[in-house]
Amino acid sequence: MVEAGEDCCVKVAVHVRPLIGEEKVQGCKDCVTVVSGKPQVQIGAHSFTFDHVYGSTGSPSSAMFDECVVSLVDGLFQGYNATVLAYGQTGSGKTYTMGTGFKDGCQEGIIPLVMSSLFNKIDTLKHQIEFQLHVSFIEILKEEVRDLLDPSSMNKPETANGHAGKVTIPGKPPIQIRESSNGVITLAGCTEVSVTTLKEMAACLEQGSLSRATGSTNMNNQSRIYLLASVQPSGLKVVHRNVVTFIFLEFSSITYSSSVMCPTSRSHAIFTITLEQMRKLNSPGEISLNDTMNEEYLCAKLHLVDLAGSERAKRTGSDGLRFKEGVHINKGLLALGNVISALGDEKKRKEGVHVPYRDSKLTRLLQV
Ligand code: ADP
Ligand code: MG
Repeated sequence: MVEAGEDCCVKVAVHVRPLIGEEKVQGCKDCVTVVSGKPQVQIGAHSFTFDHVYGSTGSPSSAMFDECVVSLVDGLFQGYNATVLAYGQTGSGKTYTMGTGFKDGCQEGIIPLVMSSLFNKIDTLKHQIEFQLHVSFIEILKEEVRDLLDPSSMNKPETANGHAGKVTIPGKPPIQIRESSNGVITLAGCTEVSVTTLKEMAACLEQGSLSRATGSTNMNNQSRIYLLASVQPSGLKVVHRNVVTFIFLEFSSITYSSSVMCPTSRSHAIFTITLEQMRKLNSPGEISLNDTMNEEYLCAKLHLVDLAGSERAKRTGSDGLRFKEGVHINKGLLALGNVISALGDEKKRKEGVHVPYRDSKLTRLLQV
């Protein structure tokens, strides 16, 4: 699917998750039909076409990984940043698909598949290239960045009203988003764990997943997930190619009803893998990654994002504190939509139209 450096390299994959046990007991019916042989879903009389559609049977994670994500992992080795966003309403299966819910097990999902593919590739290349891997895992809740790998912020208890404990540790400065002069975004004060093995990286995923704040609302389960994948050329010693586009789809008017309670993630969780490569070119005829230097350094990031539920605050039946969180979550998703539409319109992009990354922490962080 996405070729590194390809113009407008954003793809949208839809996953229709199967009805879960409680929904079946309640006699819920799947209202989304996958059109056979086409990347299309049918809802009533309307059909919608995407880059990929995965139906509710079988295990879609591995097909999604092979068709949508593996090329992004390969792109990392060429110095391309990439982002995979799971977008959908609460209960649509974002956390399950991404693998950011430890309760669902660390073996399943896109992130564990990314990790094993990454280490397999490193294994085949480690004799020629020196690798360094770093992992960060944060969540953005109410426009506040929380470090999920900071041991002292783990497992904050929920307060009586179901709101996760305060995320800032007394005496510890809040995590700040900084942008360097070459446009690289960094998180000041955020734990970046250096990992050398798959096991160590999986431990980071596990630790962060356990630490992630969740709560429950009465939002019904929904049956869709949108996996948005994009690649961006990274900076450093790689020549900048065209800025890459995101596509964003809002599909929230289509719902089906069940009354299953499920944990709701009100936060955006971002698992970021940074891959640094140092390659010495000893023999004269050896192919250079950028054709100009004897020693090459490449650095690229892969952001794997489990977005907060896309339902509107008013639909959650929440009020007070929870409602305010809904408003903030919408701020991140709204900003994401605006960024994607600015980047996704090729004409605007060529005209150098302003991309409103700064409107939310989420878009700021995903900028590079
Ligand atoms: P979200 O993160 O979008 O709110 P979850 O990932 O928590 O949704 O999924 C909601 C429920 O559906 C969970 O009980 C989860 O185990 C189940 N589920 C999600 N995707 C699948 C799937 N592909 N196959 C089976 N069950 C799934
Ligand atoms: Mg979730």
